[in-house]
Amino acid sequence: MYYFVWGLLKEANEQAKLEKRLEQVKIAEVKRISSSSSSRVKQDCDKLNSMRVMMMRSRHERGECIQCGGKGHVFKDCSKNQSRNEEEALPEYQMLAFNVGPVTFDKDMWMLYTTTSNHMTPYDKYFTTLDRTHRARIKFITGDSIMSEGIGDVRIMTKEGNKKKNKTIKNVLFVPKIDRNVLSVGQMTQAGYGIVMTAHKCTVEDQAGRLFGESMWEERGFFLRLEVVEGNL
Ligand SMILES: [Zn+2]
Repeated sequence: MYYFVWGLLKEANEQAKLEKRLEQVKIAEVKRISSSSSSRVKQDCDKLNSMRVMMMRSRHERGECIQCGGKGHVFKDCSKNQSRNEEEALPEYQMLAFNVGPVTFDKDMWMLYTTTSNHMTPYDKYFTTLDRTHRARIKFITGDSIMSEGIGDVRIMTKEGNKKKNKTIKNVLFVPKIDRNVLSVGQMTQAGYGIVMTAHKCTVEDQAGRLFGESMWEERGFFLRLEVVEGNL
């Protein structure tokens, strides 16, 4: 696998081409996952981290800044260092999913990512509680990062037979600049949810073993459509 990725990196001349290929590798990787557990998630994170390291190495070989991929300067002179230092003390989360081109995400879609460390949403009206003092940096595979501006709980409505029931998704990061809602498979597993991913389908069971949601594979990945009960903050 690593030799394969390394080969891709050596071939890739432009950043766009490289990212497109990494994305294809990632899709192949996700399709390969037959079940998910905390260690599975950790493995995926480790793999994506090594891909990032290799991407930096590849930028270095092309004479580009390893941090931003820009020409004409090196890492220590990169303009991104300024903001990095200021934010260094903040906690850091990873959003190691790949952007799959010019696609859009609906407001009720929650992407299921194995390689993202936390739940995230850009919509503050979704929160029933929100601690705006919790600021953190969200890192992307490219090394870019955006800020989260709070953490809190989001309440959703689920159906059990004919009955409607409230459930709370705890510890969701408020990330105004993100373009989609994200459910972290790792965080859900820790909360007791059972998640099984096959090549074409992902099923999520709640703590009691009842079906919580399921998703068929599509271009944008696996996702659940959730009915959020908006908070009154
Ligand atoms: Zn730079």
